[in-house]
Amino acid sequence: MVCRINDYIRAVNTKAGQKSLIRKPFQIIKMSFENLDLIEPILRALKTEGYEIPTPIQEQAIPIILQRKDLLGCAQTGTGKTAAFAIPIIQILHETHNPAKGRRKIKSLIVTPTRELAIQIGESFAAYGRHAGLKHTVIFGGVGERPQTDALRAGIDILIATPGRLLDLMNQGYIDLRSIELFVLDEADRMLDMGFIHDVKRIIAELPRERQSLFFSATMPKPIVALAKRYQEDALRISTVGEDRGHGDIAYQAMAVSPSDIEHAVINILRYHEAETAMLFCATRDNVRHLHASLVERGFAAVALSGEHSQNERNYALQALRDKRARVCVATDVAARGIDLPSLSLVVHVEIPRDAETLQHRTGSTGARRVRYRTWR
Ligand code: AMP
Repeated sequence: MVCRINDYIRAVNTKAGQKSLIRKPFQIIKMSFENLDLIEPILRALKTEGYEIPTPIQEQAIPIILQRKDLLGCAQTGTGKTAAFAIPIIQILHETHNPAKGRRKIKSLIVTPTRELAIQIGESFAAYGRHAGLKHTVIFGGVGERPQTDALRAGIDILIATPGRLLDLMNQGYIDLRSIELFVLDEADRMLDMGFIHDVKRIIAELPRERQSLFFSATMPKPIVALAKRYQEDALRISTVGEDRGHGDIAYQAMAVSPSDIEHAVINILRYHEAETAMLFCATRDNVRHLHASLVERGFAAVALSGEHSQNERNYALQALRDKRARVCVATDVAARGIDLPSLSLVVHVEIPRDAETLQHRTGSTGARRVRYRTWR
């Protein structure tokens, strides 16, 4: 299958005039969480969450963290960054966890700037770690200390904290950071903006020297780079910011999916991207009808465009997309020619176009300058 995609890509990339359309060659991404060497309890939990495909930050960060290397990740909230560090942390701690060893000691500390983020991260650990047998707790200011100190006293593996309350409870002797193996500094640039930098340094000073440090930041101003230099060891630097922001260009991704999983994969992609308007291209009217019906059944505001629709139905569908009453359009190549959808930001080739011209039409017909293109097969 990959071979067929490669042939296709070669054909597309050698086609004259394609260079302006395709900034970089197609990426073949045989993406699945199974390919990331994750353990069964985590894979099972991700299935429950409905995650099928790792996001770019997850794809890059998970193997690095599992190799026990330091990491400096440039990624924003919304890119799947939490799972990118939570999943490997759960895996590492699950593999070394010894239930016979008495009271749990904190092995991983995640410091994040706000209470909302702390809560969200706690929920993520609960979700991805539901079968891993680890304990975590979340601490933040503005609420009573008692439930937090009770949880700490009972023993936990993972602590998620905002800096102020963390230092407060450390000073009161509730928290011992000497067993930390994995330290995460989340939203480092925001931490800096909020004036937490000194608190962060005081926290890091209490960590063992021998540890793995993972820093995440949406931007990389000099003070963050300096912080990483000072407190990390040969950190690998990864970034997914460019991919998501783009430069008015089109980013292409090709993914290998077994035929029986295509529909499921398309649904996951739609849920994940939450594009304002998405176009899904199918090869035949039958396939359009089938996919459209499944999407509507699952609650997507979807319309269909194919040769079996009258001009009135076509006008109605296009108007619904322009008014944002519909967000997804399932179409055949012929039916989608010449339409103009300015808010289009995602195109999924549920079936690969027959040739390079069709590919160009699929993009060109949309009128969109910034299209995120995904190819499925
Ligand atoms: P975050 O960047 O960590 O705030 O995550 C943003 C959202 O993406 C959260 O609602 C996650 O549940 C969701 N998410 C993270 N990873 C995936 C994935 N691989 N597939 C689908 N959804 C995901």
